[in-house]
Amino acid sequence: MHTQGALPVLGIVVPCYNEEEVLPETIVRLTRVLDRLVGERLASPGSFMLFVDDGSRDKTWELIESFRHSNPRVAGLKLARNAGHQSALLAGLNRARLTADCAVSIDADLQDDPDAILEFMAKYHEGYDIVYGIRQSRTTDTAFKRGTAQSFYKLMSKLGAKIEYNHADYRLMSRRALEQLDRFKEVNLFLRGIVPMIGFKSTRVYYDRHERFAGESKYPLKKMLSFAWDGITALSVTPIRFVTLAGFLLFVVSLVAALYAIVQKLAGNTVSGWTSLMLSIWFVGGIQLISLGLIGEYIGKIYKEVKRRPLYIVETDLAAQSEAPGGTK
Ligand code: UDP
Ligand code: MG
Repeated sequence: MHTQGALPVLGIVVPCYNEEEVLPETIVRLTRVLDRLVGERLASPGSFMLFVDDGSRDKTWELIESFRHSNPRVAGLKLARNAGHQSALLAGLNRARLTADCAVSIDADLQDDPDAILEFMAKYHEGYDIVYGIRQSRTTDTAFKRGTAQSFYKLMSKLGAKIEYNHADYRLMSRRALEQLDRFKEVNLFLRGIVPMIGFKSTRVYYDRHERFAGESKYPLKKMLSFAWDGITALSVTPIRFVTLAGFLLFVVSLVAALYAIVQKLAGNTVSGWTSLMLSIWFVGGIQLISLGLIGEYIGKIYKEVKRRPLYIVETDLAAQSEAPGGTK
């Protein structure tokens, strides 16, 4: 049990990038969830929603500000510029953990059923530190998105990275899990891969994934592929091992080829050899380029980590009026 007597303060963290079309509905839905949690004595009345404006160019921030006036449970965090989904999420979680006992992260677009938060909180009361929301049905996603997502999860587990199947960033974390998360000082942030490394008691809650309520995906194919690639190289060094393996294989093949060439030479069959020469030059050249690129990828990642640049910069921090006194900064 996490709390003795007092009800836990829940902070719902919502990263928002140009989400003016969905925000009003999201706030209504999440307020309803919080009301129910408070009514069922699963969460403290001081619980809040924290909307992180990730450098939106539309009216997202103005909306957050105006909703905060009428709804005491709305808090806002404005980032100085677009930091990306993962960094915006981290910014929100780090802010929420200052006043909340546990935090749920959810996308603004209502694709992930907010009602599952009720189950998340029930699990929290059972003593779980991390609750993963798992997409049970993804019928609303395109077959293409489902297919690519599935191959991604398969590849990740083959490469030795422990990630939850069909879990995006919809999850609950206790304060102590959030404190541990903060110790992972990774610039190449891939939260889904890091959270399972924390350990603690964790469980899953299944829910149905819906269609985006409004607006369009901020993850077009190009961004999705680059996100997947970052995930793989941030969590696993196995690709480097493949390069070494390919090098060894090539070496063995070239030994056989050399033997063959010598035998031919001794037998007096010196051939012009143009085909084999060309083929090997191209083949080896190709392998070398791939290897160089791959090594470059990791060096690039090291370069980024070494610089230790901040992942996000907070411009404005507006606490919810419902947040516990003393926790307003
Ligand atoms: N998002 C963000 N910063 C970005 C891109 C996206 O904070 O640079 C937010 C976005 O507002 C949404 C969540 O991240 O709340 C997930 O984005 P989206 O729904 O577009 O992704 P999809 O569900 O299509 O993968
Ligand atoms: Mg979405």
